[in-house]
Amino acid sequence: MPGKQTKDKADLTYKPKSGWEILKDNAPQIETYNNEYREFLSRVKTEREAVSYLVEAAQGRAGLIVYENRGKAIALCRKGVSPLADGIRLVVAHLDSPRLDLKANPLYEDTDLVMLRTHYYGGIKKYQWLARPLALHGLVVKADGSSVRIVIGEDSDDPCFTIDDLLPHLAGNTQYTKKVSDAFQGEKLSIIFGSMPDLKAKDDKVKRRVLALLNEKYGMVEQDFVSADLEVVPAGIAREVGLDRSLIGAYGQDDRACAYAAFAAVRDCSNVPCTTVALLVDKEEIGSDGNTGAKSNFLEEVLWELSERFQQDIVPTRVLYRSRAISGDVNGAFDPEYPEVHEKTNAAKIGYGVCVTKFTGSRGKVGSNEAHAEYMGWIRAFLNRRNIPWQTGELGKVDEGGGGTVAKYFAEYGMDVVDMGPALLSMHAPFELSSKVDTYSTYLAYRAFMEER
Ligand code: MN
Ligand code: MN
Repeated sequence: MPGKQTKDKADLTYKPKSGWEILKDNAPQIETYNNEYREFLSRVKTEREAVSYLVEAAQGRAGLIVYENRGKAIALCRKGVSPLADGIRLVVAHLDSPRLDLKANPLYEDTDLVMLRTHYYGGIKKYQWLARPLALHGLVVKADGSSVRIVIGEDSDDPCFTIDDLLPHLAGNTQYTKKVSDAFQGEKLSIIFGSMPDLKAKDDKVKRRVLALLNEKYGMVEQDFVSADLEVVPAGIAREVGLDRSLIGAYGQDDRACAYAAFAAVRDCSNVPCTTVALLVDKEEIGSDGNTGAKSNFLEEVLWELSERFQQDIVPTRVLYRSRAISGDVNGAFDPEYPEVHEKTNAAKIGYGVCVTKFTGSRGKVGSNEAHAEYMGWIRAFLNRRNIPWQTGELGKVDEGGGGTVAKYFAEYGMDVVDMGPALLSMHAPFELSSKVDTYSTYLAYRAFMEER
């Protein structure tokens, strides 16, 4: 007996469609969403700033329950129709992005320049930090326990900072003749912080002058750098890119494209069948360790809190075993100038909607959580039914490289997890590019996942 036949023979092939075509009647919604998203990217450059922004944005939203973890991670929850014990719908994304952190004793003076030494956090090609405007963001805790937030370099009348690069004329032996990985050293990524001497000082003249300025503005002394989280990031706002304004260029879209979509989805969703959690974590770019990272027990703590709030007795690990999750993270988009690193049939394309990544990892899927066929089937079915632009994506050719996400840490609980988010050009660069239709599709997909019966 032959199996059930598809009636329309033309439907047998699968050709992904442009998101712009699928959502051709939704241009105003795409614009509105991306204006909000761009505002978020412009105002938020660190995990701490993201949490503050989202706590404020969640205020007064009916049904939205918010838990914060040390100002660096956040869970935004909405109660579902079914009991907590039946499992939750989880969208997890990360709020941290590659950056340069100040060392504990960052200040030094040499040749009348005062510099701040840094230790890089996460991976941007090191030369991309050089000779560009940088801003300083963070929190300083003073000796008396009071704290002060710092943002310098974002307003157009603020000063900014930069890292000096060698002139090409003298870069022959130190840069041009070396491999890129050797030519640019992490230890040399020091920020130029000032150059004007305190004429009354006997020594450390420039350093004493910048310390006086820091003290005047923030009440800081040099030892305060020890108890601070100070992050150096690319300065400037998120921009529209392309004559057609179809793209967004900004620092930190890995992974704030997904973090913002997760927030907007849990904010806007309604009548959710299961309790829904947008969990936005820290430390992904350095391996997810630490008490604000994906490997921490924050999610279990959130479930204890919800169980008390809903007055429903649960065992969090059992709830998590019965749960479904999306690991919201970006993928790398096909770059037409470097086709050799991609396998075109399976690479994600800019403008083709949210990218569903069945597995990540490298060298034969090592380190990957692979979504099962059954789970992929469920996801694909509701994305199709709701006409949400989506595509699959594999990061690079087999054995070309690879990468991982937080998916595996949540899969350890036994829940089903799949990676899903927009594909970026210039991923892990100071100015990453996303397509407006992809960021909007990501929001639609997360919201559909939360609302799907
Ligand atoms: Mn990421
Ligand atoms: Mn990343």
